[in-house]
Formats: sequence, structure tokens, C-alpha cells
Amino acid sequence: MSHTINITKINTSKVDDLDFDNIPLGRTFTDHMFICDYENGEWVNPRVEPLELIPTHPAAMALHYGQAIFEGMKATVGTDGSPMLFRPEKNAARLNFSADRMGMPHFPEDLFVEGLKQLVAVEQAWIPPQEGSALYLRPFMYADEPFIGMRAATSYKFIIIASPSGPFFTNRIKLYAETKYIRAAEGGTGEAKAAGNYAAAIRPTELAKEKGYDQVLWLDAVEHKYIQEVGTMNIFFKIDGKFITPKKDGAILDGITRMSVIDLLRDKGFEVAERPITIDEIKEASENGTLEEAFGTGTAVGIAYIQEIGMNDETIHVSDESPVGLDINDTLNDIKTGKIEDTFNWMVKVEKVLV
Ligand SMILES: *Cc1c(COP(=O)(O)O)cnc(C)c1O
Repeated sequence: MSHTINITKINTSKVDDLDFDNIPLGRTFTDHMFICDYENGEWVNPRVEPLELIPTHPAAMALHYGQAIFEGMKATVGTDGSPMLFRPEKNAARLNFSADRMGMPHFPEDLFVEGLKQLVAVEQAWIPPQEGSALYLRPFMYADEPFIGMRAATSYKFIIIASPSGPFFTNRIKLYAETKYIRAAEGGTGEAKAAGNYAAAIRPTELAKEKGYDQVLWLDAVEHKYIQEVGTMNIFFKIDGKFITPKKDGAILDGITRMSVIDLLRDKGFEVAERPITIDEIKEASENGTLEEAFGTGTAVGIAYIQEIGMNDETIHVSDESPVGLDINDTLNDIKTGKIEDTFNWMVKVEKVLV
């Protein structure tokens, strides 16, 4: 299927006002957005236009019933100067997986990738060139039908906005294993990248921060025993030379970084098991000296090294170093900038001809 994407460009770009060495995280947006409307059962009028406020009816259903989902991905520049996307078809498929769970319409996956490419082509001056920097892309869909009543909306918007992000120098993070609040239960919406999952996580995350932790480590909803994931990341542990990560259980998010890291670890000769992992198992490994490292994986930060995990009044020491995590992070960055060969065929080039 081919789509005609109309492009309306602004007169003067704001990119010259941006200090690329000092990018305020999540607050700077590029000049344009991709936007498409869902009306009368179909997606119409895909376009790239100047980023501006969108008039919203006070009864827009997303505001009341929360039909809102999103994606997160990054565009980088290759050594040859051309912008590239990392596995965008995976984000397209995951958006539709989330849409299914939330009773929302599918967005055509080819148009998702085409929209990303067009937007990135128009905004390529905004891609920070520094190592570890990228243009963060945020595709999202929400119900904008004005209606008070409990059913799936009949009109939606699909939008992609872009925000340059500087290099992430994450310190080792400390996690708080939460035994009171839960993020997701099997059968719930945890597998969907739904806005509401975050809404429910905000308060527990604030409480963890008050205790001196960076993020919540979510445990299963039934026994508060099995490890699920971290705020916006999946999690890996290295015990006695082998890697483990919680298996997809119907409640954790199927991270694209997670699936890529599993491939990279195996490629580097490590064993990786996807299986249920209890917090007690991690505690025991910490105590008997077999817990070698642990890290979180997600598009926003890449790899975040975990130093310790708190639970109630206990502290589980993880590790002060994360050599494999560091190596995987470098490999991922090098693939994303074309410094090493993309043997997995993950990168999708954006043609410059469109601009
Ligand atoms: C987006 C997200 C992740 C990471 O997914 P990536 O595709 O690797 O960015 C992990 N957990 C949650 C809850 C998320 O929303």
C-alpha cells in the first residue's frame, strides 16, 4: 500500500537555538510532527506539519477513559551521514499489539515506518551528532472523540513528535523492590505500552525516590516474589557467568532493547535464559557471591547498571561494575551509528531525497 504524506514545512527552523552540548532532556521538540486522523473507520490525511497545539474537546475520550498508547525509539546518524532507525518495524508491530489490548484501531505498519522516515528526513538537522546522543521519537495514539460513555472511541489521532536527547551518562542505579504496589498483573495491560500503566506507577516511583532509590523494581502482582521489570526498562542478571531475564509472562513489556540484548549476549557467547526469577534467588546469589552484574534495558537509556536493590529494610548489593553491560551498550551504540557492521540487519536507513 502506498500513502501520500503531505509535507508542510515551517519557514524558519528553531534548530539554530539549540545548544547541542546541553540539551534539556525531554523538553526540546523539533519543528514538525507527523499526524494522521482516524475517522469513519479509516486513517486519513497523513501529513508532516509544523508542531503546534492541537485543539482538544473537553470530552475527548482519552482524557476520561485513558485510551492512549505510545512508542519510544531513536534516530541516529550513521558514519556516512545518513539518518537511521533502529528496528522501527518492531515498534510498529508493538503499537498495534497495544492497540488491540486497548480496543483501539490498528495503524498501518508501513505507514508507521514511512511517517517516521518522512519526519526524520525533514528533521535531520536535529539529530545530535555526539556519541550516545540521538533524536528520540515518540509515536503515540489517543482517542479524541468527544463522548461521555464507556465504549471504544470512534475517532483517534496518531502522532509522532521528536525530541533531541543528549548522551546518557547513567550512574549506577538503585532499585526499590516494591512489595505493596503492583504495576501489572497477568490479564491486565502490562504488556501494552499504555499511558495508564505509567499513571499507576508515578506515585510508587515518587515514594521510592523519597527513600533514596532511582526506580521501582516491580514484582509480580500475586506473590510479590517474582521479578517483572524496572520503571521503563526490562532487567537482566548475570549469575555465575550466565544471564537470566524474566520471561514474558503476560504482564511485562516486550522490550525491543531486551530482545536485541538477548541476541547480542548470545552472539558474544553467553547463555541467556528467559525464566521466572524470584527476588530471593537474587538475594541468595548476592550473599553467596555469584551475582556478577545486573542491568536494565530500554530505548531511552540503553543500558542502566544496577548497583543495589532495596526491599523493605534490606539491601541487596548487586555489583559495582558491569563489564558485560558496558560492552553491550557500546556494541548497541556502534551498530546504531554504523561503526560496526549491522550483522543482524537491525538498522533502517532514511533516504535524504525527500527533503
Ligand atoms: C518501553 C518500555 C520498556 C523498554 O522497551 P524498549 O522497546 O526496549 O524501549 C520496558 N518496560 C516498560 C514498562 C516500557 O514501557
